[in-house]
Amino acid sequence: MVGAGPVGLAVAWRCARRGLRVVVYDDRPGSGASAVAAGMLAPVAEAYFGEHELTALLVESAARWPGFAAELAEASGVDLGHRTEGTLVVGLTADDLTEARRLWAYQQGLGLPITPLRPSALRDREPALAPRVRGGAVAAGDHQVDPRRLVAALRIAAERAGVVFRPARVGALSEVDARITVVAAGCGAAALTGLPVRPVKGQVLRLRAPGGGPPGFRHVIRGYADGESVYLVPRDSGEVVVGATVEERADTEVTAGGVLRLLRAAVELVPELTEYELVEAVAGLRPGTPDNAPILGTLPGRPDVVVATGHHRHGIVLTPVTADLVTELIVTGEPDPALAPFTPDRFPKEPRWN
Ligand SMILES: Cc1cc2nc3c(=O)[nH]c(=O)nc-3n(C[C@H](O)[C@H](O)[C@H](O)COP(=O)(O)OP(=O)(O)OC[C@H]3O[C@@H](n4cnc5c(N)ncnc54)[C@H](O)[C@@H]3O)c2cc1C
Repeated sequence: MVGAGPVGLAVAWRCARRGLRVVVYDDRPGSGASAVAAGMLAPVAEAYFGEHELTALLVESAARWPGFAAELAEASGVDLGHRTEGTLVVGLTADDLTEARRLWAYQQGLGLPITPLRPSALRDREPALAPRVRGGAVAAGDHQVDPRRLVAALRIAAERAGVVFRPARVGALSEVDARITVVAAGCGAAALTGLPVRPVKGQVLRLRAPGGGPPGFRHVIRGYADGESVYLVPRDSGEVVVGATVEERADTEVTAGGVLRLLRAAVELVPELTEYELVEAVAGLRPGTPDNAPILGTLPGRPDVVVATGHHRHGIVLTPVTADLVTELIVTGEPDPALAPFTPDRFPKEPRWN
């Protein structure tokens, strides 16, 4: 196994529980995108036009999350911060809401549970919302988990199941001596496999509620604030994650402009955030793919190499289904039909116009 992010760790844990001998290579376990991620489990709010197959996989994985969380908490003794209050999607201006309503209609057309609410009903649920919020919707099934706790739990559970960790960076697949090599290296997969995984930078802030108490709201709040899109994820610890920029860049510098945009949009939605302590500003790299969907399956021409990467914005929500499907492929050698839309060979080798 190359990579000890949530995807690699979950596959390693599952494989070890199925009786396989597993060695995980990573010089900095848990240091990839998951160290920065917000941890929204949002199959509905993240269902976008033209991504049917990805949406179906998100829905399937979200349905597996409660069982996965319970099993992992039991196996590791770690509280994952799994919370099920749901998500409010809100807009400030008429333009914001026009765009949002188009998406809600599409999501409802797919049969997904998103319910528009009047401003008064929104504020009944979350009095901390700004008076300027003009409308919104609730996605009751869109939950959250703390990704840093998830990774810590997976490491413990994997170790307890017999997984061996090697603190090493893999420079080439030939360095790994295994019957099956799994590449779960996030953005690092491109250099190892040649697959089209690219870094998509995201800046994130962590705020803390004053007085050591919990944040003044319980739902995840996703908002369109004057054309800017932002989310606020409240945790039991008092932390609020504010994210995230989406930038086609490969560096992890935090920029003044990024922080400014996030904070401005955040306080437009929930004014009391101005009183919160700013405890962290950080950036990470999502493993993006041309169609925004993960790459899962056997590498063409290499029956000994299985790829599980390219989870882009969805690696936390997709962890349970990825672990199940990829483990089944490794153990049985047979790909589940659910993997068909996500195989590594779906990308053209050369641009079509050549
Ligand atoms: C700002 C931001 C917000 C996000 N919010 C969410 C969210 O709310 N919900 C959600 O579902 N997802 C979210 N994501 C996406 C999610 O974090 C990723 O999809 C997920 O972390 C991918 O998991 P992974 O294990 O494939 O890769 P990573 O988490 O990136 O881990 C990859 C691991 O591989 C290791 N590695 C890389 N190359 C090598 C090598 N050559 N040899 C050995 N080890 C190697 C790295 O050290 C790292 O430990 C967010 C991401 C970002 C950046």
